[in-house]
Amino acid sequence: MQLRIFFKTYPETSKCPSCGKIGTIRRSRAKTIFESAVKASRIANLYKCKECGWRGMLKKYMMNKYSLITLAFYFVLIISVAYVISQVLKRNFGS
Ligand SMILES: [Zn+2]
Repeated sequence: MQLRIFFKTYPETSKCPSCGKIGTIRRSRAKTIFESAVKASRIANLYKCKECGWRGMLKKYMMNKYSLITLAFYFVLIISVAYVISQVLKRNFGS
């Protein structure tokens, strides 16, 4: 079982979404306010392909198909821990 929900991606080493070549993607400067906002959010970054000229945003983090299961697992864990704590508190300090 995996314990991580988000995985860092490395767009610099991944395939270009346009021409499919590997290792041609480089970071690009933000040109509009929207692009600057995206960059500032640290969720995605701007990239440019030096091979075909493609320019766009790529996410820096991704989730895989087990992420939701992990998320659900953490949720159940938190709920049960909260329940146990509330029961212990009731038993010891409740009237
Ligand atoms: Zn390309």
